[in-house]
Amino acid sequence: MTLERLQKVIAEAGIASRRKAEKMITAGRVRVDGHVVTKLGTKVDTFSNITVDSEPIERESLHTYLFYKPRGVVSTVSDDKGRKTVVDYFKDIPYRLYPIGRLDYDTSGLLLVTNDGALANLLMHPKNKVPKVYVAKITGRLTPEEIDKLKRGVVFDHHKSAPAKVKVIRSEKHKNMQIVQLTIHEGHYHEVKRMFKAVGHMVDKLSRERYSFLTLQSLTSGQYRELSREEVDRLK
Ligand code: URA
Repeated sequence: MTLERLQKVIAEAGIASRRKAEKMITAGRVRVDGHVVTKLGTKVDTFSNITVDSEPIERESLHTYLFYKPRGVVSTVSDDKGRKTVVDYFKDIPYRLYPIGRLDYDTSGLLLVTNDGALANLLMHPKNKVPKVYVAKITGRLTPEEIDKLKRGVVFDHHKSAPAKVKVIRSEKHKNMQIVQLTIHEGHYHEVKRMFKAVGHMVDKLSRERYSFLTLQSLTSGQYRELSREEVDRLK
């Protein structure tokens, strides 16, 4: 659950500047869930009911999008190297969006983009083991022993990956390459690339095909669609 400072929430609702919002709070004009709050810095969550002079403030409505991230795009809101970011694709959307988790610059595929902090926190919490399906083009070919290792969890950088599901989709005999589907529940930095590296294979291309029950379906690279309320509820 995202907690935010009351004066920030009032200011973001467009009622007043942050300074004026602070004055409204100290003057006793603001109620949270029916109680007058005069302490500055009081934290509120997405569901807190806030009124100013007994008028409810309008909180920003919550929106979540399923985005087909192209390769060559950063999964951040801004980039100090001036590279294209995922939010550049949402210029026409008037909400302050950010991605839920990350895909590497050179990874394509399914990325959720939202302004719903509570949903983002929930989905990124390690205890919520959201299954993610990746398809990797790797160098060489996995031996049955290597597949077994990946299935049981491999050790790298003092970390053992959780057990994965592994399915070889295709072997490219002439090119000494293999296309492998890997299902994992974790989201550590470079998780998939490091798992394959730990068993001696480099990832040449990587894409995420599924996040929980969501797939890209008819979206093409660079496109997005908004999730329905039912879909968002199913993710929770
Ligand atoms: N694992 C990786 O190595 N890269 C990604 O982008 C996602 C998962």
